[in-house]
Amino acid sequence: MKKLFALAAIAAAAVGAHAQDFPAGKTVTLVVPFAAGGPTDRVARDLAEAMQKTLGTTIVVDNTAGAGSSIGTAKVARANPDGYTLLLNHIGMSTMPALYRKLPFNVETDFEYLGMVNEVPMTLIGKPGLPANNYKELTTWIAANKGKINLGNAGLGAASHLCGLLFQSALKVEMTPVPYKGTAPAIADLLGGQIDLLCDQTTNTSSQIGAKKVKAYAVTTSKRLTTPALKDLPTLDESGLKGFEVTIWHGVYAPKGTPAPVLKKLNEAIKAAMKDPGFIQREEALGAVITTDKRTEPAEHKKFVSSEIAKWGPIIKAAGVYAD
Ligand code: ASP
Repeated sequence: MKKLFALAAIAAAAVGAHAQDFPAGKTVTLVVPFAAGGPTDRVARDLAEAMQKTLGTTIVVDNTAGAGSSIGTAKVARANPDGYTLLLNHIGMSTMPALYRKLPFNVETDFEYLGMVNEVPMTLIGKPGLPANNYKELTTWIAANKGKINLGNAGLGAASHLCGLLFQSALKVEMTPVPYKGTAPAIADLLGGQIDLLCDQTTNTSSQIGAKKVKAYAVTTSKRLTTPALKDLPTLDESGLKGFEVTIWHGVYAPKGTPAPVLKKLNEAIKAAMKDPGFIQREEALGAVITTDKRTEPAEHKKFVSSEIAKWGPIIKAAGVYAD
């Protein structure tokens, strides 16, 4: 018996020692649960670049996309809790629990929260040839084309899905949802005219809007934005959809049980990234707002996600949308 205790103590000390050494030159994988080249991927790659400087090790981005981020999120929930596999996800962490009847993870109990990164507004955009040049003309076009309109999204639980859901319910019209593994492939199809409309983060749309490659109708924030390419766009609220407001946020997570010293180092690297001039400049140019408040701390990040679950759950349930 004594021998067993001694072995357990040695094993615990070994784990502790490894945790102190983290990352010990080993590569860290940051899972992005959406396709490469999209808005979540963009935030992840910029963040990884900044965090590497503090951690002194390489961070690779792994795009495990599909099913509105639930596949990649499940992968991290199942990963070794050693700090070498992390997740960057968005508002989906708070909408998935209401949208999926069965999820292979529990957002609130299967993860260690590492801190919030940014908030990103969304924009409503249309395919290049769409015969509506402003929001008012868009509503006329929608009314005249009921039952024929395709609206892209990045799967149930994605930000684009949530935004599209709220938009349809505010207008009381139904559009045909076209799911993708992320909004990078969705925007490619929009540019090609295969889908009509898309609601997507400014981190993905501002350059297309600035270059006038897509039709841009409105922003989803309560106030107009100041980003040069977006500053002339009205809000949906001022356009007649009173109270319409969706802002996307991103946060970083580790599997439950990751040792405390590892979590501390990761959180410090995230907070250092929030002060990295290169990261700040890249994010701001795309319309994102870096998180500088207490939500960069794990406990406050978790509290915020719980409040978002409480906020979106009833809205999603009322819309009657779910997946098995
Ligand atoms: N913007 C996407 C969404 O709708 C996700 C992505 O491709 O990053 O949530």
